Amino acid sequence: MGGRDPNVVLLDENGKRSDGRTVNETRKVTIKAGVLKNANGSAYIEFGENKILAGIYGPRDVHPKHLSNPDTGILRCRYHMSPFSVGERKNPAPSRREVEISKVIKEALEPAVILDQFPRTVVDIFLEILQADGGTRCAALAAASVALADAGIPMRDMVSACAAGKVADTVILDVNNEEDQAGQADMPMGYMPNLKKITLLQLDGVLTPEEYKKCVEVGIDGCNQVYEIQKKALEEKYFSKGDQ
Ligand code: UDP
Repeated sequence: MGGRDPNVVLLDENGKRSDGRTVNETRKVTIKAGVLKNANGSAYIEFGENKILAGIYGPRDVHPKHLSNPDTGILRCRYHMSPFSVGERKNPAPSRREVEISKVIKEALEPAVILDQFPRTVVDIFLEILQADGGTRCAALAAASVALADAGIPMRDMVSACAAGKVADTVILDVNNEEDQAGQADMPMGYMPNLKKITLLQLDGVLTPEEYKKCVEVGIDGCNQVYEIQKKALEEKYFSKGDQ
């Protein structure tokens, strides 16, 4: 949360947000599955102004070997922001924030992925943020799920993702960068819609218990919307004319 900029009108008298959305509206989301020839699975997502590529390798041998588990396969995740993804050039070295986001995305996917059929192997998830505008961890998580499915990794469900938050004392869906900086709360969520299980929930900011409940409700609604787009991306690749 940055300090409040008094010049930003986050919610106007007609209930419109600074980018013209209503409180319950997500940004435009488009996903394409299977965009990288050399990865085992991949996806490209545009989530509003966020642009992210996800590439999957595996299941494959684990290096270094001591990380391998004789009972199950493991997941590894690297979330990386390209130096040109944000306004101020980002240092290409991994930041604490990128280490944290890599960890939470991996942990959000683990309940979905069935890896015990692949002992001693690793599935690597590479997430490249090409352009960032708030909510990259949710967008990257949604893209990673589609890329895992594209790689044919067995899953219990796809993990969908969307944030809820609070601006101008009002609960909103899908927080953009401006709202994240000037708003009161940002609550990214990951959710498995078929199993109805939350796999990621973080909160930056302050909410009352009632606002928190509303955020969870609104966030799940956003995840359900993103889920439909994730499924559509897979259908387009695997069931469309001229099957690739
Ligand atoms: N951001 C930035 N520079 C950085 C890190 C983040 O400009 O080094 C911006 C970027 O637009 C990002 C937003 O701040 O999407 C919010 O970052 P946050 O840590 O809340 O994660 P996110 O919302 O992207 O999951």
